[in-house]
Amino acid sequence: MADEFPLGMVWLVGAGPGDPDLLTRKAERLIRRASTIFYDALVGPGVLALVPTGTRMVSVGKRSGRHSKDQTTIDALIVEAALAGERVVRLKGGDPAIFGRAAEELEACRAAGVQTRVCPGVTAASAAAASLNLSLTLRGHARRLTFVTAHVRAGEELELDWKSLADPHATLAIYMGKAAAQAVSARLIAAGLPPDTPVVLVENASLPDERHFATRLDLLPLAARTALGDGPAVILVGAAVKGAHAPFAATQARERQCRPAKLPSRLRTGRSIRKSS
Ligand code: SAH
Repeated sequence: MADEFPLGMVWLVGAGPGDPDLLTRKAERLIRRASTIFYDALVGPGVLALVPTGTRMVSVGKRSGRHSKDQTTIDALIVEAALAGERVVRLKGGDPAIFGRAAEELEACRAAGVQTRVCPGVTAASAAAASLNLSLTLRGHARRLTFVTAHVRAGEELELDWKSLADPHATLAIYMGKAAAQAVSARLIAAGLPPDTPVVLVENASLPDERHFATRLDLLPLAARTALGDGPAVILVGAAVKGAHAPFAATQARERQCRPAKLPSRLRTGRSIRKSS
C-alpha cells in the first residue's frame, strides 16, 4: 500500500472541537508522523499533548482580532516546509473544510506542486449538539441545517441572505457570531423569524470549561454579551434546540474523562517553537 504521508506532503488535519477523544484515529496517526505542525489557536491543549517531542511546532494561531500571521504568510510557510521535504500537518480546529480557510491553503500547495490531502474533523456545531444531547435536525420541524459565519472584517456590515436564513423549519449553526449577535437577532426577526425562536449558545464545546446558555432570539444580544466568557462559541438557532440543557450525568462523565490536559512545556508560551537542529 502506498505511504499515506510521504516526505514533502501536506495534510490538512481537523483537530476537532478540543477534546482529544473527538480526534479521528487518522488525525492522531498523522499528527504522530508529522515532522512539522502548523497549528491554530483553537486546537485544544489535549490534542497538542499528543504531538511527539521533536516535532517542529509552529503556532499560526488565529483568534478573532488577534491574527498572529496573515493567510498569505501561512500559505507560504506551509509550502516552504513541504518543498524543504518535511512531512507537514496543518492542524485546524474542528473540520478544516468548515470556515477554516482550507481552500486557500490547498490552492497554494497545488500551485507549488505540493501533494495535499484533507483529514476531516468534528465541527463545533456537532460537538455542541452532542454536549446538549440534541439533534440538529428534527423530523418535520428542522429539515435544513445551515452553517453560517457571522464574522465580518472591521468596518464592514454583516451581509447575509437574511430572508433565506429566517426559515422556521431550519436549524442555524452560527460560527464566529458572538460579536455580531445584535445584528443577527435584529435581522433574523426583521426577516420573519419569531422573537421567541429557541437559541442556545455553546462556548468551548467538548472542553472541560464548556458553558451553555439557552435563550430566545430576541434576547440573544444580551446573552452573547453577558452569559459567556471569551472562549469560542457557536450559536444554534431553531426549533431543534428547544429545551436545550446539558444532561447532568453526561456533564459529570465528561468532566471525569477530560481533565484539562497538561500542555507540554515547549508549547506553554504560545509562541512558535523550533527544533534546535
Ligand atoms: N473549522 C472550525 C470552525 C473555525 S471558525 C470547526 O469546524 O469547528 C471558529 C469558530 O468556530 C469560533 O468562533 C466558534 O464559533 C466555533 N468554534 C470552534 N471551536 C469551538 C468550540 N470548541 N466550542 C464552540 N464553538 C467553537
